[in-house]
Amino acid sequence: MSFAELGLSAELLRAVDTQGYTHPTPIQLQAIPSVLSGRDVLAGAQTGTGKTAAFTLPMLHLLSAAQSNGRQRRPRALVLTPTRELAAQVGESVRLYGQNLPLRSLQIFGGVGMGPQVEKLRRGVDILVATPGRLLDHQGQGNVDLGGIEILVLDEADRMLDMGFIHDIRRILKSLPKQRQNLLFSATYSREIEQLANGLLSNPARIEVARRNTAAETVSQLVHPVAKDQKRALLSHLIHSGGLQQVLVFTRTKHGANRLAQQLITDGITAAAIHGNKSQGARTRALADFKSGAVRTLVATDIAARGLDIDRLPNVVNYELPNVSEDYVHRIGRTGRAGSEGAAVSLVGPDEYGLLAGIERLLGRKIEKIAVDGFEVGSPAPRDSANRQERGNQRRSGGEPGQSRAHHARSPSARRNAPSGDTAAQTPRHARQRGGNSNGNRRPVR
Ligand code: AMP
Repeated sequence: MSFAELGLSAELLRAVDTQGYTHPTPIQLQAIPSVLSGRDVLAGAQTGTGKTAAFTLPMLHLLSAAQSNGRQRRPRALVLTPTRELAAQVGESVRLYGQNLPLRSLQIFGGVGMGPQVEKLRRGVDILVATPGRLLDHQGQGNVDLGGIEILVLDEADRMLDMGFIHDIRRILKSLPKQRQNLLFSATYSREIEQLANGLLSNPARIEVARRNTAAETVSQLVHPVAKDQKRALLSHLIHSGGLQQVLVFTRTKHGANRLAQQLITDGITAAAIHGNKSQGARTRALADFKSGAVRTLVATDIAARGLDIDRLPNVVNYELPNVSEDYVHRIGRTGRAGSEGAAVSLVGPDEYGLLAGIERLLGRKIEKIAVDGFEVGSPAPRDSANRQERGNQRRSGGEPGQSRAHHARSPSARRNAPSGDTAAQTPRHARQRGGNSNGNRRPVR
């Protein structure tokens, strides 16, 4: 089934096409027709399933199909999210999917000045994507009138409840018109969610997508503890020794992305950087080269990586952990798409152990930690890998792109979840696995 068959408008189909999406994901297949028919929806879906487009596309369709009535440019749709990051991400999706429509959207969240948000509210907005606290601040100051809301979306409702937003949500609900369409998305169901849904939704379409499609479960995750100044050498080593052919590497800064790409090239690994300072043309070219295999490594910042859709991307490397734990989930969501498997490896310096603990809290589990032989924290600087040249092992015999992924996290390990500080030296398992590869150019593991 295609997006066109779901009944979305030509403008939305063009936007979806621009994103490179060819087929709707399972949640989109189920949710889009229900939302288009005007029904309330209760959907169980985690991040990475395409849930944002599942509510945003039909929402945009309905808003653009029906003329607004009442006062000009009062918000007609409201998406509530638990965090700023999610509001920014959903807001960006609304912008991307609505790029061919004359609808105005605005993100409203705390931590930034109210002024620009007030200004945009005054000029008129069709769609608000907001965190509850800041939205209430604006309401309290009379900056926003929610009396024209036709569609309400609660995104990641379970997290909103976990974060204690239930009273804020109830206050906001009171200011909305009674007659409206309600969509509730939640990764988990609890009694509290049921209660919220019962009070909010009327005869909802109940949608549940298989958990196996979620990034967190199809992606094997691994941490390599390593000193900061050895990260670059370790990355080159992993790419060489693992025969990794398509690796998306995340850095925190644009400057860091540029520098790392340059260093990888010096190490004999084809690389390109992609970030906000690059022109659209340069970004498109880098992505095309990466997809075609002309460039083996794409180094990206979080912002630049949003919206990247690379089919069956086998490897993601966190060269630096993100400051915001949720970004980790988004990063690893770049691999293991649509049920295919992927490997996410994080190179973690001692200064990042706090960030790692935050990520593990968010995931609700520990990530396996393995120190790579010769790159353990505290070991002398390893032999520099700058002079290692690839000797024609770009094309591996019989190699599926995904074949080079590390299978480490799925194998039993005595060192599973060992504390970062005392992990024993060990050859990365994917490297050992590749040792028997018929390709004689595989560099021996140090
Ligand atoms: P979400 O679950 O909304 O966070 O989406 C996860 C990722 O899937 C986002 O990066 C989207 O760009 C991407 N995505 C959404 N729908 C599709 C689709 N139909 N095909 C491929 N990628 C998609």
